[in-house]
Amino acid sequence: MTTDSRDLKTVPVLVPMPAETAYSYSVPEGMTVEPGSIVRVPLGPRQVAGIVWDGPCGPVEARKLRPIAEAFDCPPVKPEMRRFVDWIAEYTLSPPGMVARMLLRAPTAFEPEPLIEGLQRTQDLPDRMTAARSRVLELTGDGLAWTRSGLAHAAGVSLSVVDGLKNQGVFETVMLPPRPVVARPDPAYAAPAFTADQASAAAHLRTQVEKGGFGVTLIDGVTGSGKTEVYFEAVAAALEKGRQVLILLPEIALTHAFLERFQERFGAKPAEWHSELAPRTRERVWRQVAEGRVRVVAGARSALFLPFRELGLIVVDEEHDPAYKQEDRVFYNARDMAVVRAHLGGFPTVLASATPSLESRVNALKGRYSRVVLPDRFAEAALPELKSVDLRRAPPGRGGFLSPALIEAVQETVSKGEQALLFLNRRGYAPLTLCRVCGHRFQCPDCSSWLVEHRFRGQLMCHQCGHAERRPEACPECGTLDHLVACGPGVERIAEETLQHFPDARTIVLSSDMMGGVKRLRLELEAIAKGEADIVIGTQLVAKGHNFPNMTLVGVVDADLGLANGDPRAAERTFQLLSQVTGRAGRTGKKSLGLLQTYQPDHPVMRAIVSGDSEAFYERETAERERAGLPPFGRLAGIIVSAATRGEAEGHARALRRAAPATAKIEVLGPAEAPLALIGGRHRFRLLIQASRGAPIQDFIRAMVRAAPRPRGSVRIQIDIDPQSFL
Ligand code: ADP
Ligand code: ZN
Repeated sequence: MTTDSRDLKTVPVLVPMPAETAYSYSVPEGMTVEPGSIVRVPLGPRQVAGIVWDGPCGPVEARKLRPIAEAFDCPPVKPEMRRFVDWIAEYTLSPPGMVARMLLRAPTAFEPEPLIEGLQRTQDLPDRMTAARSRVLELTGDGLAWTRSGLAHAAGVSLSVVDGLKNQGVFETVMLPPRPVVARPDPAYAAPAFTADQASAAAHLRTQVEKGGFGVTLIDGVTGSGKTEVYFEAVAAALEKGRQVLILLPEIALTHAFLERFQERFGAKPAEWHSELAPRTRERVWRQVAEGRVRVVAGARSALFLPFRELGLIVVDEEHDPAYKQEDRVFYNARDMAVVRAHLGGFPTVLASATPSLESRVNALKGRYSRVVLPDRFAEAALPELKSVDLRRAPPGRGGFLSPALIEAVQETVSKGEQALLFLNRRGYAPLTLCRVCGHRFQCPDCSSWLVEHRFRGQLMCHQCGHAERRPEACPECGTLDHLVACGPGVERIAEETLQHFPDARTIVLSSDMMGGVKRLRLELEAIAKGEADIVIGTQLVAKGHNFPNMTLVGVVDADLGLANGDPRAAERTFQLLSQVTGRAGRTGKKSLGLLQTYQPDHPVMRAIVSGDSEAFYERETAERERAGLPPFGRLAGIIVSAATRGEAEGHARALRRAAPATAKIEVLGPAEAPLALIGGRHRFRLLIQASRGAPIQDFIRAMVRAAPRPRGSVRIQIDIDPQSFL
């Protein structure tokens, strides 16, 4: 007998693969699934997890139709989450399966957590009493169940005492629900007394949450003004309403202090979500978020794909931070996607920053977002006095990078028993090593980037691909011994110079490549906050969010560093980073100072920071962007074509360009060899698509890719809508 596929119940299932649509599967008799069900399906020779999707199935031949292997005992993915996956796929031009893949990254969480064994009192009593036994009986008198080890620990007895009682029938085994990953936060636990500005901002947020529905509020407040305290009020309102909350943070290193702060306010920690979590914890968080047992998650951008049961608020802290952009597989900006997620879910979003992105500011000015402003630091804390140090007039001594003015300021700070931060956004010892005899420069064999010397490790490293080699004694080109020179500074070199000037000071160097990873980093950050260092030398990692009460001087070693990289956001980024880093000073009442070493003291960015007139800076930048038709007044997309040979990459990039439809509102720039022309052995060419604000840039790119020949051989295309990086 032959079966027609229409006789069977078939459903579309989205699998975590770069496929353009869901695949059809049959539902075996006795199994029930609905859109959103998480299932296991055969895919070629493998079995994968997938999500039953919406809409009709594509046509399949009956003999090719394979049955769903298993329907997991898991709450179905909600319609708003499925629309979110579709939306991102459409917007970023990614296969929907690759977006769904981000949601399915907790394989064992699809099954309920196993119950845990517990002990509960029976009516029986032991044959003989001892002091240890009576302590156990006292604890368990109320009839509540305990785990075996928990009980032994609480009663201060050995496990054998508990086992002995159990053997005598004093306890019976009962099965208990798995423990929650975090306790339930209490919105009324420790509400702060707000200042007048804070109170009106908090009231606005509370109203947004209470009335419900979609809306975006930008909290624009100087560093230390209490933005966190204020958005906690929105969190409290959402919790009171019985909704879950997601707080996005840009940096894992920050999460730790944040968790404690949250606990002080709500009596319990939020669940964490980021790549450093142990796999088991990750899966438990995923499951408990789906079940609604976790009420608040503090996480990195990937937390947007957690299967919340009743999400009612997303907060994006440091919303301007470039770390929210994912540039791998699915290219998306988590800040923007948070707004989309809230829109689809019909609930409010809060964006917070001391230096909002131009995009968010313009949205607020145009009335698309509401904006609350906190102009002053909390309590007696005052913003630091800011000055530029003109390196043309007062340069550092020979071979050094710290000007006399900065050295003197560090001296004064340290002698008062206060802390100084020297900021340089460059890891390692020196960004370039060359041979003084033949001029040979050390370059990565697989990338077009110079190798960065890391002296602590004794290595030359590529910051693009991770390639590392030992720093040789002799030049590999001309063979001359001991004539290699380090050019330019990284934080390690600044540390060396600091040590020469301040041999007795306690210094700490912080950068993301530090040995010991996140754990060590957290300890160092805590040590700094406790005042256990006099001078801190760090990369952008120390610029963000931290609260160092005793820090009264911030010296920016090279304020010009970010300005010259051809990125349309270079000025904005530099302004944000320098404002953030100087904002580390003066968190308490003490007088504080920020010094910017620069060769361009008249540059608008330096002037804006030194004068404190950020409004003027934003206005100027906004006008520039509008004039040039750049975001948010126009739209950009990057297309990167890469291949094993330069010829293939260039050839395909040109073919794409030729395939572009003719439209007045959309322009294709390039192809041009990318500034990073080679990464990991792949040659790269870039096209930039520039469009007016309302133009259908996705349709345009889709048409272009379709009309061009299919990429062959080693050729790959990456599409980056709203690019942040132009390398
Ligand atoms: P921001 O997020 O704007 O940098 P924070 O919320 O971190 O500011 O506040 C800075 C510091 O001031 C924190 O230590 C915070 O606990 C404290 N603070 C702010 N507002 C209040 C308040 N109303 N009551 C008590 N402490 C506050
Ligand atoms: Zn490399």
